[in-house]
Amino acid sequence: MTITDTHTHLYSNEFDEDRNEMMQRAIDAGVSRFFIPAIDATFTQAMYDLEKSYPANVFLMMGLHPTHVKENYLEELQFVENELSKRNFFAVGEIGIDLYWDKTHLPQQQDAFKKQIQLAKKHKLPIVIHCREAFDEIFEILETEKSPDLFGIFHCFSGTYEQALRAISYNMKLGIGGVVTFKNGKIDQFLNQIDLKHIVLETDSPYLAPVPYRGKRNESSYLLNVVRKLSEIYNLSQEEIALITTENSKAIFGI
Ligand SMILES: [Zn+2]
Repeated sequence: MTITDTHTHLYSNEFDEDRNEMMQRAIDAGVSRFFIPAIDATFTQAMYDLEKSYPANVFLMMGLHPTHVKENYLEELQFVENELSKRNFFAVGEIGIDLYWDKTHLPQQQDAFKKQIQLAKKHKLPIVIHCREAFDEIFEILETEKSPDLFGIFHCFSGTYEQALRAISYNMKLGIGGVVTFKNGKIDQFLNQIDLKHIVLETDSPYLAPVPYRGKRNESSYLLNVVRKLSEIYNLSQEEIALITTENSKAIFGI
């Protein structure tokens, strides 16, 4: 069984004590493909080191995370652009809008999101969207940027059924993780009405650990709990869930 974690911050400080053991636990459990979202330039070296240690398992993205869009965001975007033209990446991410933590930089967040979508189109890469309390703002930009060459993943999808359909209409797959196992997570209520071809799996580790680890540090091996939950929701075997969502990830990332 091959399970693909399409969103995991393996370079996070939270794994400094036991990163190799944690990754081995995941690989032993069948979670052997890790897609790594960028945050800002300060994390880039750690990402490159990780890729060097696990070249067959680790696939990197490049981008500026919305909560890290600050006064210097144009410099950060220049860095993203330079790295994208220097070497190979598998997506532009994570990018988007986050109005939960701080609303003061909304115009800069919108500008950064738009510019990075255009970079993704230029490099023929998918985007990986981070959306927190910002569905309207995100959809507004996707509406102006939509085109056959815009595609990607709505990471940690936590919206309504209608918002799911709208995201899919912009060529986005829904990234499903620990939230689907939460009692109040809501998405488990309608997910069986969404064709599995639109779903990819993710942990967003070290955040959002699934039940029974909710509240603890998340790690990629815990994705098995998400696979189990989806197998109940879709009434398919865990092997089928792993296979179909991994195929979906290949369609997005091209690997
Ligand atoms: Zn993330």
